[in-house]
Amino acid sequence: MKKIILASSNKGKVREIKEFCQNFEVVAFSEIIPKFEIIEDGKSFKENAIIKAKAIYEKLDEKEKLNSIVLADDSGITVPALGNIPGIYSARFAGEEASDKDNLYKLIDELKANKLKTTPAYYTACMAIVSNSGENTVHGWMHGNVIDEARGENGFGYDPMFLPKGYEKTLGELDNEIKAEFSHRVKALGLVKLLLKTY
Ligand code: IMP
Repeated sequence: MKKIILASSNKGKVREIKEFCQNFEVVAFSEIIPKFEIIEDGKSFKENAIIKAKAIYEKLDEKEKLNSIVLADDSGITVPALGNIPGIYSARFAGEEASDKDNLYKLIDELKANKLKTTPAYYTACMAIVSNSGENTVHGWMHGNVIDEARGENGFGYDPMFLPKGYEKTLGELDNEIKAEFSHRVKALGLVKLLLKTY
């Protein structure tokens, strides 16, 4: 079975993907090669996921290229009432060096500035797989509402302000296992699992 190399060093994402892919050997790329900067200048989640996966794949030695597949995830949250921000800029919404908390509170400030206590929003995850057989991409989405305050410490990123559809608690307040039942990333990973059967 091929090893899955994750093109991410975001601890929250690596944890969620490792938990989901328990039947596979999953390693973060930083466990194999030194970290390096990848310029994510794509215009969509899909373009950025492919850029990340290809950048890591190209750094692997020939043996590793044969025995591994690189899995990259590009994800973010979109708020239609605010003109679809932050979208693909979710990770650097409050600036290039911004922390998850900086980004969360910037989005809360945007809601407040627009006098929106709550409004629909959705997370998108695009997963790209790059291997010696070429490239593939799949998407997953999670819909709900964002609110103008942060509640709870679970999850990561924008989770403390996101109420998934059908819930009155934020993902910061709900258990990680509940999020794992229907998150955008888990939906995309379900499709990745199907694809992996063909490798
Ligand atoms: P990426 O690492 O370039 O894909 O950036 C994704 C950004 O979107 C992260 O920094 C988070 O702020 C946000 N994000 C993506 N998925 C989630 C999630 O499941 N919960 C909370 N925030 C997320």
